[in-house]
Amino acid sequence: MAKLAIIAHGGAGADPLKKSNIEEAIQKGSSLLESDACAVDAAVEACVILENDPAFNAGTGSVTRLDGSVLVDASIHVNDGRLGFVASMPETPNPIRVAEALLDEEINGLGGIGAREWADQRGIPRSAVTPRPPGKTASGDTVGVIAMDSEGVMVTATSTGGCSDQPAGRIGDVPLPGCGFWVESGVAIAATGIGEAITREMLSHRVHGWISRDGMPMGRAFEKAIKTRFDESTDVGLIGMTSDGSCAARANTNMPWASWNSDGIRG
Ligand code: ASP
Repeated sequence: MAKLAIIAHGGAGADPLKKSNIEEAIQKGSSLLESDACAVDAAVEACVILENDPAFNAGTGSVTRLDGSVLVDASIHVNDGRLGFVASMPETPNPIRVAEALLDEEINGLGGIGAREWADQRGIPRSAVTPRPPGKTASGDTVGVIAMDSEGVMVTATSTGGCSDQPAGRIGDVPLPGCGFWVESGVAIAATGIGEAITREMLSHRVHGWISRDGMPMGRAFEKAIKTRFDESTDVGLIGMTSDGSCAARANTNMPWASWNSDGIRG
């Protein structure tokens, strides 16, 4: 039986006081895992708590684009290879539920209005997402969760409104496999920060290789990536989990995060 474990972040560049909000999501995810829920459910429900919290730039609290629209991205990846992601979706307070619904479909990803219509056909709630008040529209505050259940299934779930003041169709790293997330062979990674820089580095997949292929400890791989692949002025953060239930988090700026595993270790 694998250890149960969960870790979540509230975005690179976010207020460290938001750790208590993250702890709520961890509480939800860990109690689900303890009551035998699968890692997909634990990661999704923890992510939904963060999407419903207006303190975060995901779902409900998402930032506005240059044209005043609010468009959301989300992704989910399971270590059995299943994948779901949505990009630039309108009127969707919980895009992670749409990404989850894609897990067992032949297609992996959907974008824009087509994604919304597909979600409508499956009864996934549509409602206007109220833009954040002006002045609170920094990037950052994106959310990400990694969970592992007793069967050793590992899942990443990430969600964002993107970076503020970007064009309506802009796609960051969150819905792009290998960029904002990657899980395979007992190592799961989720990234946050400036999506363009993360995407150019294919950051999650790159760091995954250093850990899984080269045997580098997670914390050291994160530090190496942040120091050697990014400019100091580019916000970036990473969380990760390995199949022994260990978790790690690093960023070059504030990044509220929290973790728990069934050995009673909290971070
Ligand atoms: N990575 C997200 C994006 O660029 C934003 C963030 O993590 O703060 O869309």
